Amino acid sequence: MARLYEPDSIAVSAAHWIDGEIVEAGGASATRLEVVRPSDGKVHAQLPLADADTVDRAVLAARRAAPAWAALKPRERGRLLIRFGELVSAHAEEIGRLESVVSSRVQAEAGPIDVGTAAEYLRFYGEYCDKLEGTITASGREAFSLVAREPHGVVAIITPWNFPVILSTWKVAPALAAGNTVVLKPSEMTPFSMVRIAQLAIEAGIPAGVFNVVQGDGPVTGKALTTHPDVDYVTFTGSSQVGGRIMADIGASGIKPVALELGGKGAQLVFADCGPLDTVADHVTWGVTRNAGQLCYAGSRLVVHEAIADELVERVRTRMLALRPGATWDDATTLAPIISRKQVERMTGIVERALAAGAECLTGGEAFEQEGGQFFAPTMLAGVRPGMEACDEEIFGPVLTVETFADEEEGIALARAGRYGLSASVFSRDIERALAASRRLDAGTVWVNRWGRTAEMMTAPFGGFGRSGFGKEAGRQGIEGFSRQKAIWIDFAKTPDLAHSNDPRA
Ligand code: NAD
Repeated sequence: MARLYEPDSIAVSAAHWIDGEIVEAGGASATRLEVVRPSDGKVHAQLPLADADTVDRAVLAARRAAPAWAALKPRERGRLLIRFGELVSAHAEEIGRLESVVSSRVQAEAGPIDVGTAAEYLRFYGEYCDKLEGTITASGREAFSLVAREPHGVVAIITPWNFPVILSTWKVAPALAAGNTVVLKPSEMTPFSMVRIAQLAIEAGIPAGVFNVVQGDGPVTGKALTTHPDVDYVTFTGSSQVGGRIMADIGASGIKPVALELGGKGAQLVFADCGPLDTVADHVTWGVTRNAGQLCYAGSRLVVHEAIADELVERVRTRMLALRPGATWDDATTLAPIISRKQVERMTGIVERALAAGAECLTGGEAFEQEGGQFFAPTMLAGVRPGMEACDEEIFGPVLTVETFADEEEGIALARAGRYGLSASVFSRDIERALAASRRLDAGTVWVNRWGRTAEMMTAPFGGFGRSGFGKEAGRQGIEGFSRQKAIWIDFAKTPDLAHSNDPRA
């Protein structure tokens, strides 16, 4: 294996970014948190945690910057965002290193794919700025209503550690494009890449205060941000548990709109007419081992027709065994490390309890260490059914459960089971069967004869049903959520129509 960079050589700015400036201190208390590299277990930096005063400072900077940013002509805002995207793209390698050194993202993907996609999102929504239209409707001959779209104001963005740059930019780009200002809190485990990106916003000509970043944990910094009275809209990506807590906190502190992109437990529904098994095995394996399965839209439940189950499982096992664990900075790594010891312990517990409940381990099943880094062997568990924890709960690791079915109805019923509804795949070469199954699955996104999104899929909305949350990201729908709609009525009748004053909405 060759090293793409030396991890000790990656200098990071462990700081907040407020009103266009690095803010080193974490507030009066200046509590710090160790940021650990999952690839070798070493502490890379000490992160200052923003206390309520620091959060307040960032929100006020965003509030001050909001009127001028919202008043900018959409086309001018668009030009700035497109320029911002170009700068991010030009710094892809550098930002990828800031990301991969402390995360599970291998540098070979983090630079070109993650940062590359983030840059595309900035360009995409930059181009969208002047196309976020309102509507005009006529009511009879003597009245019009104009429906105007307006920014919310200050948007709080909270994101997880698994794809820090993509998941943050997915929100930052449309929020800014719609004329909002932003305070972002990235995960405390992967805090560095987005600070660098925020600095580039200034270089692109976006005014100070429009895009701020505060560092910190959930209970103190995150809560101070979501419940801040000057935050107008909250958008969160993370676990369903924390999403629920944020809703409760917001409900208790005042009312404001919120969007939640939460966990998933994606089914890969494979019919006997799925076509070449090698191709299907590639998708199924990639769907649960990319980023070591630390993916919200992981295809972590294989639901396969019994006629082809053994053959497909064998092919997936071969692919799983061929993966090469390694550090994120090694060029040959195909199995990423697990982000934290806590996560390793959690997935170990779920696998152990499944085995104790009668599941059969077809491959893997254990965590291991390598050069100080923590890994989990790609795992397949058979003999599980809905109702068992391993089948129902998001594991967030390279663990695939295998369920078989005898007929179409049973397969669809199994794939529909569970309370998550983020994504699913259907494999069948019979287009009628594939489409009929897609319509019956309870998931916000269904892929046919493939697993996973690509950068080009940015034109389609992404977001879950049920326990996977609500709100959409990407596409036209992804920017609409960042604006609110106002109806303005114009009545130009010579004789006003007072009959409607009894309208119950009046
Ligand atoms: P997490 O929910 O533990 O944390 C996410 C973020 O919330 C972090 O920044 C954290 O500091 C913050 N946070 C924690 N408590 C908070 C509180 N009380 N108030 C405000 N903020 C708080 O999630 P994680 O472990 O970082 O990420 C993994 C989870 O994210 C998985 O469940 C995964 O499925 C989900 N995820 C969903 C999507 C999606 O698009 N639906 C994408 C990626 C990850």
